[in-house]
Amino acid sequence: MSRFTGKVVVVTGAGSGIGQATALQFSREGAAVVLVGRTEEKLQKTLSQLATGDHLVAPCDVANVDQVKALRDRVAEKYGRVDVLINNAGSVVQGRIHEVQPDDWRKLMQVDLDGVYFCIHHFMPDLLKTQGNVVNISSVSGLGGDWGMSVYNAAKGAVTNFTRSLAMDYGADGVRVNSICPGFTLTDLTEDMKDDEALLERFYDRIPLRRAGQPDDIASAILFIASDDARYITGVNLPVDGGITASNGQPKQA
Ligand code: NAP
Repeated sequence: MSRFTGKVVVVTGAGSGIGQATALQFSREGAAVVLVGRTEEKLQKTLSQLATGDHLVAPCDVANVDQVKALRDRVAEKYGRVDVLINNAGSVVQGRIHEVQPDDWRKLMQVDLDGVYFCIHHFMPDLLKTQGNVVNISSVSGLGGDWGMSVYNAAKGAVTNFTRSLAMDYGADGVRVNSICPGFTLTDLTEDMKDDEALLERFYDRIPLRRAGQPDDIASAILFIASDDARYITGVNLPVDGGITASNGQPKQA
């Protein structure tokens, strides 16, 4: 199956986790993938695993608007088109709000929210030409509250509503905008939790499918929503979470 042959797909945060798995799946389906992240070595490692194609390693800090503009110009010069933008780069801040320092707040907002805006702002003119689409990687944390995650939730909640309004603004132009909302997924972001068996047990108790997500589980949903298979879907924030949203986070009753 090659749903993306001839398409150019920009994936931010492509050096690890969900972004890396997404880049791999897009390359297997024929896309030329632009690998974006701050650390070139990580992007090169992703590149070495991709299926053959005309891919591009493009180091860029999405929190820096000048770097994002330069990224857009570099992509335009190489390919002359963009079909799909995956806004996946992100970081996390934990703690109750009186413990969170203004610098931590700012840094998180600069990556998880400003970065999404900068990329959409600069790539939208290209997407309008191809009638392409945007997939923002939000989170189940963008759909409801969570303990000790208010800063992250504020950013991801903004991304889910941003997604809805952008879908409205660009629908008539043929540009779709959706988000994927992963639940707990095993990546570098959750590295510090993966050996805490008691914590994992509590998590799994609330997840109907009884396991954490793998990056490939999320990537498959990203490819679906970015593909023509989802041509009548826009403005959706799709949970890909083993059912935790459906369960309202309630543990299984004995
Ligand atoms: P990850 O492995 O840490 O991936 C995040 C990637 O983003 C890294 O490769 C990082 O590379 C890149 N990045 C961070 N800041 C950046 C910046 N300013 N500019 C460009 N790239 C940047 O974590 P992940 O779990 O795959 O996260 C991917 C997305 O999924 C995030 O938006 C996250 O919020 C979301 N998500 C994750 C989970 C989960 O449980 N894992 C759940 C819900 C949502 P560099 O440091 O080299 O730049």
